[in-house]
Amino acid sequence: MDLKNYIASIENYPSEGIVFRDISPLMADGDAYRAATHEIVKYAEEKQIDMVVGPEARGFIVGCPVAYELGVGFAPVRKPGKLPRKTISVSYDLEYGSDTLSLHADAIKPGQRVLICDDLLATGGTIKATIELIEELGGIVVGCAFLIELKDLHGRDKIEGYDMITLMEY
Ligand code: 5GP
Repeated sequence: MDLKNYIASIENYPSEGIVFRDISPLMADGDAYRAATHEIVKYAEEKQIDMVVGPEARGFIVGCPVAYELGVGFAPVRKPGKLPRKTISVSYDLEYGSDTLSLHADAIKPGQRVLICDDLLATGGTIKATIELIEELGGIVVGCAFLIELKDLHGRDKIEGYDMITLMEY
């Protein structure tokens, strides 16, 4: 199955000159969603994963079915103020300004093997911040899985040395 048939490309969204890759047609098709999930599960199967972590919001869509299939838990990475208990946070630079991501302080136990899932790798800022959060709690990031990689933005360079899989490239 060619998963790219289930990605919509929207020009000039959310701003002029950007082509947004929309995964909603993939999520809307049961066979495509399952095929993408199973490809990531296959990648993760030999890695003895203890937890899946996904950044809000589309990281939940990709990561939760993977966690379910692997029979492990899922921990959400969220924007500040969204998680109700004690959190740790990491800030990272954007093209204009900065962003902060948080994780519950007890989401990962030291030594746990973690798979990170998200829909798309662009500049790599989100994945890098997510890795920092997990490692601050003593977790071991053993894999990163994305539906889509935007090659021109070289996000992969930010996570050199970490194992990763991307199902589609643009
Ligand atoms: P990065 O931090 O790698 O620059 O950006 C990746 C994050 O931004 C991901 O969490 C992803 O959901 C979101 N993102 C950026 N551009 C796109 C896009 O074209 N399509 C989708 N679906 N998400 C995007």
